[in-house]
Amino acid sequence: MPEIGVLALQGDVREHLDALTGAGARGRPVRRPEELAAVDGLVIPGGESTTMSKLATAFGLLEPLRERVRAGMPAYGSCAGMIMLADKILDPRSGQETIGGIDMIVRRNAFGRQNESFEAAVEVEGIDGGPVQGVFIRAPWVESTGAGTLSLARYGGHSVAVRQGGLLATSFHPELTGDHRVHRYFADMVRAAG
Ligand code: GLN
Repeated sequence: MPEIGVLALQGDVREHLDALTGAGARGRPVRRPEELAAVDGLVIPGGESTTMSKLATAFGLLEPLRERVRAGMPAYGSCAGMIMLADKILDPRSGQETIGGIDMIVRRNAFGRQNESFEAAVEVEGIDGGPVQGVFIRAPWVESTGAGTLSLARYGGHSVAVRQGGLLATSFHPELTGDHRVHRYFADMVRAAG
């Protein structure tokens, strides 16, 4: 069974660990470079991407994260995690860095403010059994993507789920719904890479 880390600097770490368990994978929190080195894949949770980026730098994790992603470690980011996996942010806060890896430009808070958060049924390519309940909380959308990327889902005229090789990102939070299909999809990606 692959070991899947959850980047545990900030955000909804516990929910992702539970979703991984629900998906039949083994999840463990990752806070230190040694812990990162020991996992087969990594989930980057929802939360706040500027804070996450600053903590990753402070914990000496940003470069190790970039190296592992460059070397082919599968990674899945939800919401703030999607922003962390984007090569470029349209409207970065000052000092905000990303891990990168997915050739896309994302727009932060694109669907509006916290009180404009919403849920919507989203059809995701590669996920069988009907639409996924998309929970959008100050969610980013994908402004544009490069040639190597695959858009797996769209909502409101924008891509909200993207895959590039072993990297997966969603604007929404499947970890908050009790539906573990997206985590199962990612666990299968990790298994396939191993
Ligand atoms: N708006 C947040 C950010 O910019 C993301 C919100 C979320 O992860 N729910 O990081």
